[in-house]
Amino acid sequence: MSDHPSYHMTPEEFRRLGYRLIDWIADYEQRVADLPVLSRAEPGSIRAQLPAAPPEQGEALDRVFEDLERIILPGITHWQSPNFFAYFPANTSGPSILGDLLCSGLGVQGMLWATSPACTELETQLLDWMAELLALPAEFRSAGAGGGVIQDSASGAALCAIIAARERKTGLVSNESGCDGRLTAYASTEAHSSIEKAIKIAGIGRKNLRLIPVDERSAMRTGELETAIRTDIAAGRLPFFVSATIGTTAANGLDPLPEIGRIASQNGLWFHVDGAMSGTAALCPEFRYIQEGLEFADSYCTNPHKWMFTNFDCDCMFVRDRSALIRALSILPEYLRNRATESGAVIDYRDWQIPLGRRFRSLKLWFVLRHYGREGLQYHIRRHVALAQEFAGWVTAHPDFELALPPPLNLVCFRHRGGEAANQAILDGINRSGKAYLSHARLAGQLTLRLCVGQTRTEAEHVKAVWQLIQQAAAAWQKTPSPESRGKQ
Ligand code: PLP
Repeated sequence: MSDHPSYHMTPEEFRRLGYRLIDWIADYEQRVADLPVLSRAEPGSIRAQLPAAPPEQGEALDRVFEDLERIILPGITHWQSPNFFAYFPANTSGPSILGDLLCSGLGVQGMLWATSPACTELETQLLDWMAELLALPAEFRSAGAGGGVIQDSASGAALCAIIAARERKTGLVSNESGCDGRLTAYASTEAHSSIEKAIKIAGIGRKNLRLIPVDERSAMRTGELETAIRTDIAAGRLPFFVSATIGTTAANGLDPLPEIGRIASQNGLWFHVDGAMSGTAALCPEFRYIQEGLEFADSYCTNPHKWMFTNFDCDCMFVRDRSALIRALSILPEYLRNRATESGAVIDYRDWQIPLGRRFRSLKLWFVLRHYGREGLQYHIRRHVALAQEFAGWVTAHPDFELALPPPLNLVCFRHRGGEAANQAILDGINRSGKAYLSHARLAGQLTLRLCVGQTRTEAEHVKAVWQLIQQAAAAWQKTPSPESRGKQ
């Protein structure tokens, strides 16, 4: 035996540090409400505290805990704070953290069924469970021609959908010979930027993405979609893809899926639906109206990593015809050949996604579903929606504030009637205070405040507190300085 040290962590050391880390995370969950939600770090300030050179010799990892408190925590924006109301949430939970830890512990790379059958089969089963929990159309389940896959993100799902759509339209010619410059795609002006990004990456070209205007509720104007497609066809172009959104990022707009689906099918377009956050609401039967028309979709995605207590990354993507996706993305070099793949009896998820390798992500979703059950998930989604609706009621009742549009679910878009400067001052005041974190959107040209209720531990007390803060920030703005100079800000 070599007398050289192994350098590896011993199982005993791992156990001790692991317990310590779990304790740290459990304590963090208990104190996170008291930490400033938005990090106050200045650019470069975290990096400046790190050694310029990497360590030559290893050290006891206990020392990392000191640096975690001193260097890392001040540079954290606390997404897991119950006072986090910005963007869309990226919530997590105990079961998810444990499932993710197990994923790391097993260290599986599940590119093929053969490289860990459980990694593939648990995922297939869970996606069918998700389809059932969300009451998705039967076409999306694995028993037929469709099925589900966990993607890293809604952005990744959009890219896969666009590539599958491109290949379906061109009979796989784009994959062989490069992209047909006549391909044209459609989404609303309120679609998430990931659609535009995917269009660029897929070689379609941004100028070939038509952004269709929306109505006052941020929903796509389908008359304009139809006109744009007709104009493009008349000009010799190849319309191939349309993306609709269930819950747009800025204002939670709900695109009219039945109408978009009809237009897509009449014109031979792939119909993708992005339900990144709001799709989770369909866990509750009373909110399922949001996905009416989903039965026309070729692909759909929703992110448990936003609003379903499952830490990033976990996007559930469903397709009606899995062979369209697989044909577009499949590659089989000699070194990946194996008997199971050749038998045709298994799913190889590497053919459903952009990267080759994949983590055992379904573990964390499994832990979440088993811990909460349908009942627990429904309870929390209903609660978040109710809290947001209550907040919207306070806004409506206040003479100085107004809703930008009626909130369908858990996102409230509202404004102070004092205009741009007032809203900017309120936003800055709250975010600077560290007591809560809101973000903004620009709707119909106006600066609009957004409050999204979706953090795992947000309760009525936190929503009440942020409403107090908002009113205090508005009062502070009203006091300083004079109304004339306020108007000029
Ligand atoms: N689609 C919508 C409607 C979103 O709001 C977001 C992010 O907030 C995305 C897509 C992108 O999500 P992801 O980070 O999973 O790519």
